[in-house]
Amino acid sequence: MMITRRTLLASSAAAAAAASALPAFAATPYSFKHGAFEVTVVSDGHLLLPTSFLAPTAPPAERAALLQAAGQTAEQYQSPTNITLIRAGGDLILVDMGSGDRFMPTAGKLWDNLKAAGIDKTKITKVIFTHGHPDHLWGAVDEFDDPMLPDATFYVGEAEWDFWQGDDAVRGLPAERAGFVTGARRNYAAIKNKVKMFKPGNDIVTGLRAVATPGHTQGHVSLELAGGDGLIVAGDVLTHPLISFAHPEWKPIADHVPDVAVETRKRLLDRLAADRPKLIGFHLPYPGIGTVERKDGAYRFVAN
Ligand SMILES: [Zn+2]
Repeated sequence: MMITRRTLLASSAAAAAAASALPAFAATPYSFKHGAFEVTVVSDGHLLLPTSFLAPTAPPAERAALLQAAGQTAEQYQSPTNITLIRAGGDLILVDMGSGDRFMPTAGKLWDNLKAAGIDKTKITKVIFTHGHPDHLWGAVDEFDDPMLPDATFYVGEAEWDFWQGDDAVRGLPAERAGFVTGARRNYAAIKNKVKMFKPGNDIVTGLRAVATPGHTQGHVSLELAGGDGLIVAGDVLTHPLISFAHPEWKPIADHVPDVAVETRKRLLDRLAADRPKLIGFHLPYPGIGTVERKDGAYRFVAN
């Protein structure tokens, strides 16, 4: 069953107690129309990450206050994983494929959640990857390393593909990320005959364009959908509902090229606040949709 946010809010008001136990990663997809597109956000579950990953070098008191406000004072926190599905004419387009079955037991729920929503995954014609991290790419294969969507075409940014295949992926790599390279290469290898490379600025289909947002990874891209004031599927440019907006200059551990990521975050936030397109953030509280306004010399995420 597909329900709208309005129905979701109405039903969750009735089940407030249950909802409060499961706020950020509801399985029920949230759908809306945007221009010529129909957009659905499906949860892949959530990641469980060390809270120390969030801006470890930020001023401790300011950091503690924001973590307190986000309810993230324990050693680990839950990071939602929101996957965007776009119906565009005859195409059904998935943006990222989630974690699959061997990254974290709390993630990899995309296929179950699609099925529960009555969405047939074999109808997906195109997949666009924002970047090659496990929670976005490793769902590309099943438990036998066979492609999960053998009939789909896979769109990978050229710079991102080159990064993961090249020597720079392993040079100076922190030990905890070694498995990321092996996993990226395993998943890319399984789909490589069906991969189409693109560059930022290219249209994937009419009205759906890739935008360069490097820094989180070397070739990270976001997607821009035409219609109304616009819609930006921002991948992992803005990963925390408070920190990324109030302090875009703070550097989360997960960013590969931190200085570039900061510049990208500031540039995207400035655009989001000025032009007021909708934003979908992969790791923002489910469904991760909202707008951005200026606040106190920085920015604020307004969920909607
Ligand atoms: Zn991510």
